[in-house]
Amino acid sequence: MSFDTLGLSAELLRAVAEKGYADPTPIQRQAIPPILEKRDIMAGAQTGTGKTAAFTLPLLQLLKADAHKGARRTIRALILTPTRELAAQVGESVATYGKHMPVRSAVIFGGVNIKPQIEKLRNGVDILVATPGRLLDHVGQKTADLSHVEVLVLDEADRMLDMGFIRDIRRILAVLPKTRQNLLFSATFSDEIKKLADGLLNSPALIEVARRNTASERVAQSVHFVDRERKRELLSFLIGSRNWKQVLVFTRTKHGANRLAEQLERDGIRAAAIHGNKSQGARTRALSDFKQGAVRVLVATDIAARGLDIDQLPHVVNFELPNVPEDYVHRIGRTGRAGNEGDAISLVCMDEHKLLADIERMLKREIPKGVIPGYEPDPSVRAMPIVQRPAGNRNANVRAGSGRATSGRSRSETSTRAVRGATAKAPAPQGRRCLSDVA
Ligand code: AMP
Repeated sequence: MSFDTLGLSAELLRAVAEKGYADPTPIQRQAIPPILEKRDIMAGAQTGTGKTAAFTLPLLQLLKADAHKGARRTIRALILTPTRELAAQVGESVATYGKHMPVRSAVIFGGVNIKPQIEKLRNGVDILVATPGRLLDHVGQKTADLSHVEVLVLDEADRMLDMGFIRDIRRILAVLPKTRQNLLFSATFSDEIKKLADGLLNSPALIEVARRNTASERVAQSVHFVDRERKRELLSFLIGSRNWKQVLVFTRTKHGANRLAEQLERDGIRAAAIHGNKSQGARTRALSDFKQGAVRVLVATDIAARGLDIDQLPHVVNFELPNVPEDYVHRIGRTGRAGNEGDAISLVCMDEHKLLADIERMLKREIPKGVIPGYEPDPSVRAMPIVQRPAGNRNANVRAGSGRATSGRSRSETSTRAVRGATAKAPAPQGRRCLSDVA
């Protein structure tokens, strides 16, 4: 299905084509037609699904269809977002998609000088993107007149409520015209969101799209080949030399996560491990330290990472490739969110070539590969089996290596996974460990 079946005007289709989009995303396919019919919508969509274009494109079209006849421009569409960053991104999207149309837009948020915003509003805008607090300042000073708003968009409504904006939102709703179109976007639907939606939306079209299961185009993926014993050293080097401030690192086992976090700490890099054996309190603390920047590296297992709510992560590192290719997609989906660029680097040793091939087959594309100077793999190193303990057999993997205990590994995180791509059948050279234990 292409964009031109959605009923969008030539100017919008041109802007979309210039942006390089070939086909609409699921949220765009589902949301654009009802919005064009002037229906309210309640859409469950995460960032990264293309939701911004899903409301911006039809919004622009509606404004154009009923082009304002009066001498003065009035704010006809109001888009509320929880954060300045999101406001700025949405504002950019409005400008990009509306570039062939005579619409004017403005973005207003707090923390910056209010005067240029007042000036912009005084000159007249059709679409206003705003965070709630600063918008109320303008309403209070009568520098923003919301009495002509025809369409209201609440973007990331759940985050707005989490950030305590409900009262501000209610105050804004009170000054909007009673008859208007309402579009509510939220990643989650808590009771609070439902309550807000009940009071706000009029027979909405309900739209739900799943998180995209393909690797996001905004994530720059790369593979660095390196010897298994030098992965930790390379990781520390990358963090230090590239001055990464916030990195999520994946290991395959809890034991590996703990060890890696300890080793990084020894290298002087603040790190914490997060996995199923840690108490909820310890996990919450690690996460909040990470979010606040007190901890630079969070080392996580796949299962522990599922529940992590961290937006806009710039760097994800696969210290070890996952056994299951789908986990790769989940891992790298942790970066490149909310319209930001992200990178996902995989440190791949000899033992993991088959896992890498499986991942590339699933992605239907090759991941760019290279080596970091100084960390070139030693050609004499031979592949080792990646051993996973089969369900119910705690000692099954001891055979494969030097006999160093691996009891720290969790059953729940290793045994439930299929042994995919692992070269478990190959005999292991003596005295060496498979990569997850070396980690
Ligand atoms: P959003 O969910 O609005 O943050 O959008 C996520 C990313 O998807 C943004 O970088 C958009 O530029 C991009 N995007 C939006 N629509 C499409 C599309 N139809 N095809 C490809 N990329 C898109």
